[in-house]
Amino acid sequence: MKTLSTSLCTAVACACSIAVSTPAHGKDPRFTLPPRNVILIIGDGMDYQQITAARNYLVGAFGQLNIDSLPKRSAVQVLTIDEAPPHNVAYVADSANGGTTLATGTVTSAGRIGTTVEDADTPNILELAKARGYRVGVVTSASVTDATPAAFLAHVSFRSCEGPADMYPGVPPGAPPGTPSLPGCLPDQKAAGGKGSIAEQIATGKADVVLGGGTGKFGQTVEEGGKTVLQLAMEKGFQYANSPATLNAIQSGRVLGLFAGSTLLVKFTGPTATKMTFDSAGNALTPLPEPGNCSSNPTFATVPSLAVMTDKAIKLLSRNNQRGFFLMVESASVDKQAHARNACGHIGEMQQLDEVVEMVRAYAGDDPGTLVIVTADHGQAVQVLNEARAGGSGTPMGYVTRLNTPSDGSVLRIGYATSHGPQEDHTGTEVPILIHGGSPAAFVKPFMWQSDVFLMMAKHLNVNLD
Ligand SMILES: [Zn+2]
Repeated sequence: MKTLSTSLCTAVACACSIAVSTPAHGKDPRFTLPPRNVILIIGDGMDYQQITAARNYLVGAFGQLNIDSLPKRSAVQVLTIDEAPPHNVAYVADSANGGTTLATGTVTSAGRIGTTVEDADTPNILELAKARGYRVGVVTSASVTDATPAAFLAHVSFRSCEGPADMYPGVPPGAPPGTPSLPGCLPDQKAAGGKGSIAEQIATGKADVVLGGGTGKFGQTVEEGGKTVLQLAMEKGFQYANSPATLNAIQSGRVLGLFAGSTLLVKFTGPTATKMTFDSAGNALTPLPEPGNCSSNPTFATVPSLAVMTDKAIKLLSRNNQRGFFLMVESASVDKQAHARNACGHIGEMQQLDEVVEMVRAYAGDDPGTLVIVTADHGQAVQVLNEARAGGSGTPMGYVTRLNTPSDGSVLRIGYATSHGPQEDHTGTEVPILIHGGSPAAFVKPFMWQSDVFLMMAKHLNVNLD
């Protein structure tokens, strides 16, 4: 195990060594033709159970989502190693280390943002692309300081080091049981020679477009005092948008858009899951819930949708730009709503992702210069269960929701059974990768490691050939 973990955790060099069989991109004439773009769409916690549940509800089992039409696909093994030596392999990732592997090619431990288990910063695809003249951006329905966007924008030892007021030592207050003991945030403070909190690193970083939530973190006072993180960001050249109207009014230049204190509002609401209980003989004490329906969240329209933010980001990144751009788009609450066992919640956020896929695919067209990748950072708890069975083996365990499916007129039974606690947990399944466009460098192997996704993007942008 140690051999695998140490060979995989050496970041870029490791990722390159994994894919030595990929085409000789340096000889491909298309690499000289600008612009070249990468749009990476991450469904947080989006495994095939999530996709199937969303398809069944949104378009029916005989229907097709937009992601179903992406022409190239493979399976991606998620990679995690323990924080403590000898850094054995662990089998379930979180958004921090999963995002870090996608962003940097580095395999690291749960909770880490852009850092190795030795606490060294590892360059991410945004930094590599920006240094070579591309514009770069991040769009998320979470706080922009949340783990997935942070993995593309910052380097800290733990995901909770989001704002200057969050720089706790050791395991953060309120961290779930089992949270690995990490150096904490103190080494990341500027006074200790670090780069500061995630929000401060975004404010002083080089991203051109950053859209999502996070006013709670950007309203905090910077470590040196005297101003908020938002004021620092504006000093550094960001224009600020805090509503759909103010975002729409900005036509060019660098933009920081924050449309919620933290996570953006979700698209759908619906019935809460029912906890199944049993007597000592195993007989169900709880009847199955009656089938319910998803409803549009009436407050959703007060924030820009993921598609609206993505459309704006592409326009800002591509306008008068012959070099190209890198854009990461995250549908964050596919994961967050599954944690909370809200079936309509994660189905609605899958619909948001699917709207983005439709728009991005139309933007990319048949141009191989734009590589579109849809993948996930890790699996989630959602399971599509057998509605045909009743009693005995048909009695589900854990939490259950039943939904009337609009297209099929059937009942969709969704179960969650990873935890008795207040939240469900991630699972260790391989995750999908679905691809549109791209050059021969976007060669898709039948089976991939998560670090291969970074390599694919880096090769398409020709940024890892120093
Ligand atoms: Zn999660």
